[in-house]
Amino acid sequence: MKTECKKWLEKRLEKLQGLESYSLERTNENIAKQLGISPTKIVKLNYNENLFMPKEKLVLLMREVAEECDLRIYPQEEESKLKEKISDYLKTPKDCVAVGNGSDELIDRIGRLFLEKGDKAVSVTPTFPILRYCIKHQDAECNAVPLLKNFGLDVPRLLDNFTSETKLLYLCSPNNPTANQFKMNEIENLIEEFPGIVIVDEAYAEYADYSMVSYVDKFENLIILRTFSKAFGLAGLRLGHAVTNTALAKILAEKTPLPFPVSVFTLNMGQKLLENLDIVEKAVEELKVERGTLTKKLNKINGIEAFDSKTNFVLFNTDKPYEDVYQNLLRQGVLIRKFGKILHLDNCLRTTVGLPQMNTKLLEALEEIFR
Ligand code: PMP
Repeated sequence: MKTECKKWLEKRLEKLQGLESYSLERTNENIAKQLGISPTKIVKLNYNENLFMPKEKLVLLMREVAEECDLRIYPQEEESKLKEKISDYLKTPKDCVAVGNGSDELIDRIGRLFLEKGDKAVSVTPTFPILRYCIKHQDAECNAVPLLKNFGLDVPRLLDNFTSETKLLYLCSPNNPTANQFKMNEIENLIEEFPGIVIVDEAYAEYADYSMVSYVDKFENLIILRTFSKAFGLAGLRLGHAVTNTALAKILAEKTPLPFPVSVFTLNMGQKLLENLDIVEKAVEELKVERGTLTKKLNKINGIEAFDSKTNFVLFNTDKPYEDVYQNLLRQGVLIRKFGKILHLDNCLRTTVGLPQMNTKLLEALEEIFR
């Protein structure tokens, strides 16, 4: 390689290494090896996955899909058929839907389409961080406005951040990791006032009180993101969708450089689950009951404050150093997510609402730690 080229590559790699990215947690296998136990013994409660969807039912549906599709052929009508089913499910016109390889991929797609070098995005802190990472790749900036102590939106401060340079506003409702849903009239006010595109990420909407999907008719600048990773239990498959007005949906669907972002199998599996909504709805109801029980039991432990949740996870703060709590749980094979300082709370941790036996293991371990 020529010296000049080598220098360029070194510089480029240095810049790329400096980019922040989503830090993936350790795998079950990796933790199990360290503990000398089987990976199946690890209680994995760190990624808000949905174990209430019965695996055997998913396997049966996957078998049906495998019979029905021909993976030798590139996608044809599958995307259009899935969009039709999604629009029935969300009661929105079919041409208002775009699908992606997980909603993460749609966030990235939106960032690429609507942000240019030097543009700004606005978001809140704490929230789901993907947009922040995506826009760094665009050489754009993100202003993150802290939430209020009650986890509500600081509307005046957000409005102060809206300028002619701010092109994207990202709100996640219900919010990850605080688990609360913002006030609908406040979100509405922000959409009205924002001088660019507003993403409302409703990844956890099925567990919450309301969805703003119907508002896409009202606002030209609103994109709602939904996913099959949470209530539908398909996190491993990677399927997300955006609901917006016809013009934006067309851009989102067509102006991606990749012709086939979602696989035939995935598109058909999405359809299959929408034809079997009763399984999804039952799993959502079961999780909600378990969420109430878990929150109550966490709050009974002296030294823990657990917050109400409109999602499939629970955030809690402790009076012990969060790192100690996290490591202690890990040693017992229980993997949750550590956050540390969130606003005025110093020792925050987040757990997925797992199956009852998983939550029992978590609670027993915590009771021991806080005894
Ligand atoms: N949005 C939020 C708010 C999330 O918490 C997550 C995953 N934890 C995602 C999006 C990612 O969804 P997907 O699996 O569809 O990429």
